[in-house]
Amino acid sequence: MPSPNVVVLGTGMAGFGAAHRLHAEGIAPVMYDKNSYHGGHTASFRFESGFLFDVGPHISFTKDPRIQELFAESVDQQFETIQISLNNYWRGYWPKHPAQLHLHGMPDDLIVKVISDFVEERQAPERPIKNYADWLLASFGRTFAEQFPMQYTRKYHLTTAENMSIDWLGPRIYRPSLEEVLRGAISPSSPHVHYITHFRYPKNGGFESYLKKFVPLGNLKLNHELASIDPRTRELTFSNGLVTHYDSLISSVALPDLIQMIQGAPKEVLDAAGRLACSTVVLVNIGVNRENLSNAHMTYFYDEDICFTRLGFPHMLSATNAPAGTGSIQAEVYFSEKYKPFTGSPEDLIEPVITDLRRCGLLRDDDKILCRKAMKLRYANIIFDLDRAAALKTVHGYLDELGIAYCGRYGEWGYMWTDESFKSGEQAAERTLSAAACRS
Ligand SMILES: Cc1cc2nc3c(=O)[nH]c(=O)nc-3n(C[C@H](O)[C@H](O)[C@H](O)COP(=O)(O)OP(=O)(O)OC[C@H]3O[C@@H](n4cnc5c(N)ncnc54)[C@H](O)[C@@H]3O)c2cc1C
Repeated sequence: MPSPNVVVLGTGMAGFGAAHRLHAEGIAPVMYDKNSYHGGHTASFRFESGFLFDVGPHISFTKDPRIQELFAESVDQQFETIQISLNNYWRGYWPKHPAQLHLHGMPDDLIVKVISDFVEERQAPERPIKNYADWLLASFGRTFAEQFPMQYTRKYHLTTAENMSIDWLGPRIYRPSLEEVLRGAISPSSPHVHYITHFRYPKNGGFESYLKKFVPLGNLKLNHELASIDPRTRELTFSNGLVTHYDSLISSVALPDLIQMIQGAPKEVLDAAGRLACSTVVLVNIGVNRENLSNAHMTYFYDEDICFTRLGFPHMLSATNAPAGTGSIQAEVYFSEKYKPFTGSPEDLIEPVITDLRRCGLLRDDDKILCRKAMKLRYANIIFDLDRAAALKTVHGYLDELGIAYCGRYGEWGYMWTDESFKSGEQAAERTLSAAACRS
């Protein structure tokens, strides 16, 4: 039997998840990517200055032992296991994460209001939860909800909590008991309740190294940007002029782009794809001649006059991420084509980020900046606004009709971590294999 011509669009976690499943059946897919490098959101870049930055802060906290083992094998068991440390920045205060359990040291008036609202909320009759704002008020009380997560929502999801659903939450946000809030307010120590306690990170080569063993499983065609799909003739056309045929198609391309490329896509599907919202992130990467920049691996910023939403410190993940004695900072500044479009060039944000790093005391006047780079990721986090569910049903229904298997964070259009994107690719391959078996 000749091997079926399976084409995979994208060489990120999802694309390689698909290649991994197909490899088990003896199939080597052709994998196309528009970039000149593989890895998508899990690529890593080392600059001449010696600093390595991932494409956004990436750590592996999968609880799935099979994926843990696959990633570990990919780096020949050479990974760090690190206990996570997270904190927050709010108006000059640095509470540990989650902030509602670490109110000790915050302004007295704030603590009193947070606790009294929390108690009032616990005594109020249950109300229906129609959106994320309702959920936040019911979980934390008004003062905490408004000062912390609602403000963070506007910076991270670029819309209001009233305009968001709650189907993305899962274990992401901890709902404390009154006792936990009180203990955290009267004492500086309180239990670690974040859903991530430890994480793994490759010793060498950045997060991208987790893909190392999967790369040979596909026939990679980089610098190939897909321009159009003819689902009738099963033909793909690339912007470099290549036209090729497929028997089965697995795509991790972001849905709004994918749908626009499909010849003959109906207007209601195009409109639905246009309603899907995602954030865009500008990553500002800074290398500094000092390593003791932070105690936390990541810090969340609530104040709306600070341009970044999160900071990560890549030199704390592996000693090989920065030259000896230096430190690195990765700032995330968020936008959204639907809610807050980004215009200009990523480099425009380097100076504002440095200014805000100085304002909050993370950079000192005598620090020497050894590396400054910026890049834009058009697709970052899916925004679970109230349009998402219905629009997604229309788009996925159409792709199902065409037999195009979608996968990954931007194919499933979900809040998926690397392990979930990898497994989503495996599942898409599984569906493709079953469909091919039915056809033959
Ligand atoms: C800021 C940020 C931080 C994150 N942190 C973590 C973390 O700490 N831990 C974790 O587990 N996960 C994290 N994630 C999630 C993780 O990045 C994703 O789950 C995963 O990388 C998605 O993989 P994917 O293959 O689905 O998508 P992608 O990596 O985006 O792959 C899609 C590929 O398709 C290619 N492509 C797109 N359009 C075309 C076209 N027209 N023609 C050809 N190729 C095309 C792209 O170039 C890309 O390579 C984070 C995500 C972001 C944005």
